Amino acid sequence: MNSSPQKDSDRYDFVHIEAKWQKHWLSENTFKVNEDSPRPKYYLLEMFPYPSGRIHMGHVRNYSIGDVVARFKRMQGYNVLHPMGWDAFGLPAENAALKHDTHPARWTYENIDYMKTQLQRMGFSYDWDRELATCDPEYYRWEQLFFIKMYEKGLVYRKMTSVNWCESCQTVLANEQVIDGRCWRCDNQVQPQDMHGWFFRITDYADELLAECDNLTGWPEKVLTMQRHWIGKSIGAEIDFPVEGTDQVLKIFTTRPDTIFGATFMSIAPEHPLVELSRHTDQAEQVAQFVSRTRIARKQQKPDEELEKEGVFVGQYCINPYTGERIPIFTANFVLMEYGTGAVMAVPAHDQRDFEFARKYNLPVKVVVQPEGEELDSASLAAAFEEPGVLTGSSQFNGLKSEEAKRAITAFAAEQKFGKAMTTYRLRDWGISRQRYWGTPIPMIYCPACGVLPVPESDLPVVLPPDAKPDKSGRSPLHFLESFYKTTCPGCGEEARRETDTMDTFVESSWYFARYASPHFTEGPLERDKVDYWLPVDQYIGGVEHAILHLLYARFFTKVLRDLGYISTAEPFKNLLTQGMVIKDGAKMSKSKGNVVDPNDLIKEYGADTVRLFSLFAAPPERDLEWSDKGVEGASRFLNRVYRLVESNKDMLAKAPEKIPSDPDEKSRALHRKTHQTIRKVTQDLENDFHFNTAIAAVMELVNLMLSLSSEESEHNIDPAAIKEAVDATLLLLYPMTPHFCSELWQMTGHETHIENQSWPTFNPDSAREEEITVVLQVNGKVRSRLLVSPDIGDDELKELSLQDEKVQKFVGSHSIRKVIVVPKKLVNVVI
Ligand SMILES: [Zn+2]
Ligand SMILES: [Zn+2]
Repeated sequence: MNSSPQKDSDRYDFVHIEAKWQKHWLSENTFKVNEDSPRPKYYLLEMFPYPSGRIHMGHVRNYSIGDVVARFKRMQGYNVLHPMGWDAFGLPAENAALKHDTHPARWTYENIDYMKTQLQRMGFSYDWDRELATCDPEYYRWEQLFFIKMYEKGLVYRKMTSVNWCESCQTVLANEQVIDGRCWRCDNQVQPQDMHGWFFRITDYADELLAECDNLTGWPEKVLTMQRHWIGKSIGAEIDFPVEGTDQVLKIFTTRPDTIFGATFMSIAPEHPLVELSRHTDQAEQVAQFVSRTRIARKQQKPDEELEKEGVFVGQYCINPYTGERIPIFTANFVLMEYGTGAVMAVPAHDQRDFEFARKYNLPVKVVVQPEGEELDSASLAAAFEEPGVLTGSSQFNGLKSEEAKRAITAFAAEQKFGKAMTTYRLRDWGISRQRYWGTPIPMIYCPACGVLPVPESDLPVVLPPDAKPDKSGRSPLHFLESFYKTTCPGCGEEARRETDTMDTFVESSWYFARYASPHFTEGPLERDKVDYWLPVDQYIGGVEHAILHLLYARFFTKVLRDLGYISTAEPFKNLLTQGMVIKDGAKMSKSKGNVVDPNDLIKEYGADTVRLFSLFAAPPERDLEWSDKGVEGASRFLNRVYRLVESNKDMLAKAPEKIPSDPDEKSRALHRKTHQTIRKVTQDLENDFHFNTAIAAVMELVNLMLSLSSEESEHNIDPAAIKEAVDATLLLLYPMTPHFCSELWQMTGHETHIENQSWPTFNPDSAREEEITVVLQVNGKVRSRLLVSPDIGDDELKELSLQDEKVQKFVGSHSIRKVIVVPKKLVNVVI
């Protein structure tokens, strides 16, 4: 083997090489796929980007991970679909358009053009023929069709509601987009506002979405836990408590009907309509003050802050339907109108929050559930007893255990018609109306005579008018554009008004993965046989920040599309990998923190392959990646070393025989063994858990062995076939990570077919096995025997084998063994 005289600082010509192979892949359509393949299908997808302007290091990391999997699976013999597109609607386009005095469409498409060249410059293996942009009417027309189909099926409805309003974004936000009371996008405090809006009935699917979490075995447990929590299923009962002296009832939901005899007060949200009851009592003023104080406090509430629990008596009582007792009604600042019925029956003896409230306001505490074999005393109780137990003080239900009691007490309410069993969810219906311009128009029409009607399917798409432009008012221009909103009623033909709201952009990303299967199909949204062939996505890769928003919506939408008869699969993503963030100086890279590294600069300086290699090597995918200049330098040096090693031996490699002689010399045998061990290690690392960093480290070890052999001037000792085998394996194993580089070197070493058409290398277990080693066996410190064992042998096994050795047994004889000393892989001393 030759070692090259070049210095570390000399870089291989990545500019030329990368351009050459990118052109080759594009002109050969290397990554174009269709359904007519004898190979099994594999659908690999990364979350598509928002065309914000330039790709950032987070994109580079996400798409590098995806590209390794795509190329690896392709080499393993799969028919790999790996598409790319643009999540192109959204508010930043409007803001940018305002700032630069241009149109959101123009800004968006210019960004797409630029970012596409950047992605191509990274050498990602996309089937570009499937590219789509969600702001294209050819895409969103089908979304409008889905909306209408869902409307017809009762899965879409319109209602007046208190919405989350972001003043700075001038739009409504879904619950999922409000994080700790703040806008997910601009971090502004969100305010409640009453408004009409369209809703998707995601709650109809709550049970299925929850149940199928158990089958998503290829998802990170962390994401499933977040989804389960978000859906938040509670099983319990709804009970009506009549309000004394009125014909009204206070409806409460409880998961603990077994404690209903212990209810000593009621807590209702400050927004609850029954707070009005205080008006004609002497509590009126106090309640009004409390309500307005609470509203202000909630608005000023910091994300992690909890308000001190407070409440005030509303001056009215309700009647416990089980006991006939009068129960005072309080309004309390910890009860939220959005959850359950906005009213809670308070059982201080069995709920810690109620307990603290009762002690604070001197309200009675009444034990009705006793721990088995114990007797709690209401007067001296120090904390609530929240566990299940045996009922007491509960009339005909005394002696029942909690679970039994829940059923019996609920059944009694149903019989007497003042309650029923009920399951509630934390999940709310998905409000999708946005008062924005740059989104998919909601295809509905308002007629003074006929009411609300969907746009006829034959009139789709409702195209976003290109002559409208957002202005500084923050209001959507669609509200004022007569040529858009003025229309005729599809029912009576009279003048009518079009809906001017657009859809939440999360609707577009809820089904794009299905459209990729037939992106240019014009007769419908999805070509059935194609979508059934490709779906579900076998491996989905994206940021963990999408755990509840996008990933829950996409699951919901898939089930809706199944029920509308468009697809067969119930779940969109079989396996999910959530990669960590790219951080620098301890913080996520962001413009405002001034710690952004621009991939463009890196590509210019080091080449795309180095950037890819660094982002894969620096951390396992699920962890955060800490940016390091040194790490990039290191990746670059490694590739240059491999380049020089291969280039200086290229003639020898081109002529070398394929087959290793049956009895190679020791060094050749060592290299052969290391090659097969490396193939085994890299294959395992890529197949399980995508541990690219350890896979790359293994290849580096193989390269280091070759380098050390070559520096020993030992070219005559190593069989050319063993070198060729090692170099070929290095290139094949690195190819998914640094594809241009490996394509070039593969060609340079005399291969006639391109590396992209090679199969993934296989390892021979016999070749990979370490040779046996000799262990010395002593009895009382004297060598008595020797043992040939595998180098992987464990201490216990070695000890056992030593004691079974005939010669050792002969010297031990009838003596008892005092101890056995094991020096791993070297020596065993039996002391008698
Ligand atoms: Zn906002
Ligand atoms: Zn009409």
